[in-house]
Amino acid sequence: PANSMEELVSLCKRRGFIFQGSEIYGGLQGFYDYGPLGVELKNNIKASWWRTNVYERDDMEGLDASIIMHRLVLRHSGHEATFSDPMVDNKKNNKRYRLDHLVKDQKAEVVAKVAAEMGESVENFPAVVAALVARPAQASAALMAAGVRDPFSGEVGDWTEPKPFNMMFRTTIGPTADEDSYGYLRPETAQGIFTNFKNVVDSTSRRLPFGIAQIGKAFRNEITPRNFIFRVRELEQMEIEFFCAPGTDEEWHEKWLEARLAWWEAQGVPRSKIQILDVPKEDLAHYSKRTYDLMYDYPTLGYEEIEGIANRTDFDLGSHTKAQAELGLQARVEENQDSIAKLTIPHPETQKPVVPFVIEPSAGVDRAMLAVLSEAFTKETLENGSERIVLKLRPHLAPIKVAVIPLARNREEITSVARAIKADLQKLGLGRVLYEDSGNIGKAYRRHDEVGTPYCVTVDFDTVGKGEDPNLTDTVTVRDRDTLAQERVKISELAGWIQARLR
Ligand code: ATP
Repeated sequence: PANSMEELVSLCKRRGFIFQGSEIYGGLQGFYDYGPLGVELKNNIKASWWRTNVYERDDMEGLDASIIMHRLVLRHSGHEATFSDPMVDNKKNNKRYRLDHLVKDQKAEVVAKVAAEMGESVENFPAVVAALVARPAQASAALMAAGVRDPFSGEVGDWTEPKPFNMMFRTTIGPTADEDSYGYLRPETAQGIFTNFKNVVDSTSRRLPFGIAQIGKAFRNEITPRNFIFRVRELEQMEIEFFCAPGTDEEWHEKWLEARLAWWEAQGVPRSKIQILDVPKEDLAHYSKRTYDLMYDYPTLGYEEIEGIANRTDFDLGSHTKAQAELGLQARVEENQDSIAKLTIPHPETQKPVVPFVIEPSAGVDRAMLAVLSEAFTKETLENGSERIVLKLRPHLAPIKVAVIPLARNREEITSVARAIKADLQKLGLGRVLYEDSGNIGKAYRRHDEVGTPYCVTVDFDTVGKGEDPNLTDTVTVRDRDTLAQERVKISELAGWIQARLR
């Protein structure tokens, strides 16, 4: 695995996985572009998630809802009122920071002093943040008394009172500029699932329990985006809302925890690197009865959330349904006079209409990518003493499955065979197969190690009967990324050979 975030950032830029967004104009903080190899890896991660959660199950439907949503969706979901992070400004330079990040990044003695000023134990950091948010005037004084420094200037700041900052991006819709013609870029994909609940049930005749899966972009105006693609403003999520009868929710919650850990394992992110955080009651989101956060041990950052698996009770459908009063909801919801749909389904036993409970496994694609890259990253010292970097990606995730390399790029008899092999292998439908004649073979191998290509196929003079060993005619050399073993394989058997190893 990678030792530092820096190592990964540098590989990602050098080999074309990830670039800073709008880079040629100085970059835009919190936005990243996925390059030629990044888009392949990302697509492969998403395809694997979709296969496991939609195709291999019989209790799941897919969905792709729109990104811009009616403001009433985000009002009744609770996001207008509560989707905010506390921020503070430094009056000296007008820089703005997310309060908890600002305090957490100070020297230990400064953090301890802030905690003491607020009368909280430094051991319980969330309680310190909660106190700062609850008593803003005291908080401002505490930050100054403790000497909290501005990460940008390095000097002690002149801090304002903490204020909530709503993280949703708002945008105007249509040509009129009146007060009501705005919508939001969704801050999570989940709301598109809840608002389509009835459409999916009516069109598929689903019965409880069943789930709806969705992969898509979400947008959060993070106050301090940072740590490469770990915290970005435009992110992608892979979310499931799994609907079940009230009373069966706890059992499904445990099942989903297991299922999700197994999936991560299959992506090369082992359980031993994931801590399961049973989120303490006082830190739970307002809609949640219980949440497991999967915390992955990221290089440099340490354990941070890669996926949240929440029991959201009947809060979401209960918030978006009409006729709330007659439905016996268990969650406390705000009154909804706007919805025109009753979001119920027959209870599996009584057949009476019920608002189901929901278990939500929600994973970030960007954070998945970072974890997968980090686990695959390997630095090896070879027998001859030289060092190589190799990405030991699981084959189904590798951006390039096979590189086909002609040993001489200006010898038609060799290049034509190499091109024919590329075309044949491409037809297997395994993903990208690259015809590669960009330079010397040593460099090509090095590059393909670094981007995780499982196999390099080399076409040489022996292949076309112009080498020293006539027995090698119509064979190619296949080089294994991990073992470095080179095997001579008959061209007629190559597709089967590759297919058997890459499936
Ligand atoms: P955090 O506490 O790190 O801000 P969160 O608890 O707000 O995350 P959720 O709302 O539970 O995150 O979102 C579900 C998943 O979406 C997270 O587990 C994470 O993988 C991903 N995610 C959330 N916010 C971001 C972001 N700003 N950048 C990248 N991925 C994100």
